[in-house]
Amino acid sequence: MTDQLDDSIAGETFDTGTSVHAGGVYVCSPCGYKKKLEPGDTFPECDSCMKKSGSDEEEEGPAPSGIWEYVGADEEKE
Ligand SMILES: [Zn+2]
Repeated sequence: MTDQLDDSIAGETFDTGTSVHAGGVYVCSPCGYKKKLEPGDTFPECDSCMKKSGSDEEEEGPAPSGIWEYVGADEEKE
């Protein structure tokens, strides 16, 4: 039984609106905003990116608001 699912998705990116299948810390590629997500969640739109793109959307097209890259398991412990 291989248990390397977490490693296999390291560095992979996920679009907003897709389901989280591996809990952990994700970073928004465009801006670097980090967020901890749990399995079953949906990748949210990045707050930071949403603030950026609001007035001049026609200027820059190829910049989707939020692409989450998996960076690792939970770093913070509560
Ligand atoms: Zn962002």
